[in-house]
Amino acid sequence: MRKTVGVIGGGAAGMMAAITAARQGASVTILEGNDRVGKKILSTGNGKCNLGNRKLDLEEYYTERSDRLKECLERFGTEDTVAFFQGIGLLLKEKNGYLYPACEQASAVLDVLRFEMAALGIHVITGCKVKQILPGQKSGQIAVHSEEQHFCFDSVVIACGGKAAPKTGSDGSGFQLAEQAGHKLLPTVPALVQLRCSEPYLKAVSGVRADAMVRVWDGGGCMACERGELQLTDYGISGIPVFQLSRQVNYILRRQREVEVTVDFLPDYGKKEYEILQMGRKLLQNDRTVEEFFTGMLPKKLMRQFVKMAGLKPGESAGAADENAMKEVYRLCREWKLHVNGHHSYDNAQVCAGGVPLDQVTENLESLRAPGVYFAGEILDVDGKCGGYNLQWAWCSGYLAGKAAADFYGG
Ligand SMILES: Cc1cc2nc3c(=O)[nH]c(=O)nc-3n(C[C@H](O)[C@H](O)[C@H](O)COP(=O)(O)OP(=O)(O)OC[C@H]3O[C@@H](n4cnc5c(N)ncnc54)[C@H](O)[C@@H]3O)c2cc1C
Repeated sequence: MRKTVGVIGGGAAGMMAAITAARQGASVTILEGNDRVGKKILSTGNGKCNLGNRKLDLEEYYTERSDRLKECLERFGTEDTVAFFQGIGLLLKEKNGYLYPACEQASAVLDVLRFEMAALGIHVITGCKVKQILPGQKSGQIAVHSEEQHFCFDSVVIACGGKAAPKTGSDGSGFQLAEQAGHKLLPTVPALVQLRCSEPYLKAVSGVRADAMVRVWDGGGCMACERGELQLTDYGISGIPVFQLSRQVNYILRRQREVEVTVDFLPDYGKKEYEILQMGRKLLQNDRTVEEFFTGMLPKKLMRQFVKMAGLKPGESAGAADENAMKEVYRLCREWKLHVNGHHSYDNAQVCAGGVPLDQVTENLESLRAPGVYFAGEILDVDGKCGGYNLQWAWCSGYLAGKAAADFYGG
């Protein structure tokens, strides 16, 4: 008799788990709540699908158990992802280490996964939203129920994603299944998401994009920083550095109402160099108006706002202007303080941080509470930064869980 493996959720991790289990000889069924598998893959990487990264480093991930994550990524890393996709016929391309399908169409990634599932005879049942999982049946099997359909499998992989982008199907219902299997979850927050700030004058600078170093402050110290293109909007801040920092900010926001961030728009200058720059400019440019004096340091909208915040008038003479106010403009360029008081919802988030802790699963991602139940993908407490790291985790965890689920001899 072939082992029967049920995979709940046909996203990146679920499809990888299903393919791996089927290649091990198991009879595999995917139960997918949507009317099609892999909906989220289509929107990844702005429709191009950044499916991995040559620079695979633990620093790109967050989890409470980085030792366990390290073991997993060592067993299925970037080269394994490349080999897997090349093996199912996908031509890849690389941009600064970021991996994409050569055609730059996310649909191609989904297509090759679907072709491989069909070739392996994987049974895909769509429109099947799983509501209940009952491990430890007398038969030794695991019962799985949707509203209308009932199944029994030798082993089950829960790959329902988290709560991010619920329109693609990941509405958090997988967390309920994990709880039914006896797991206690780590609190979740949206990650890779825009942040809201309380400063009312943000409307005046909305639309500005600039290279900046963004720092997050907690308890008086800088707890994280990221550099990249910052985008200012009427509600707050966005862009890659903000996305990368959002999970840390959002965990602080769970315990307090506000988080302070500072923005440095001239990150290439050291303190000394910046002082020399100020002195030199003063000597050369005192004949200009304040606005003319600061021209070229920052985008115009932002400079005007900083001049206003320093109590200066754009048309007044820079030479005659209050020296402390001029210094204040320079200071704002380096240390613009913003107060984050919220974030966009899971609807806008690319990932969900938190979930099933890695210390409640084995090295093969099998539940320590319910033998025969495995987890893969974002439902686990692993989230990565932008750059292909979240999909890499989906492929890696899907592979490990699928392989072990097919080999499961318990019950
Ligand atoms: C806009 C956007 C862009 C992104 N871009 C990138 C990128 O370029 N690179 C990168 O690495 N990562 C990217 N990510 C993150 C990445 O897509 C996810 O981390 C990854 O897809 C998670 O895979 P998963 O299989 O764990 O979950 P999901 O892809 O969320 O799949 C879960 C599946 O389970 C199904 N499901 C849920 N509950 C049930 C249930 N109860 N019963 C049955 N089925 C259920 C869902 O319908 C869904 O199909 C992006 C995310 C978003 C939203």
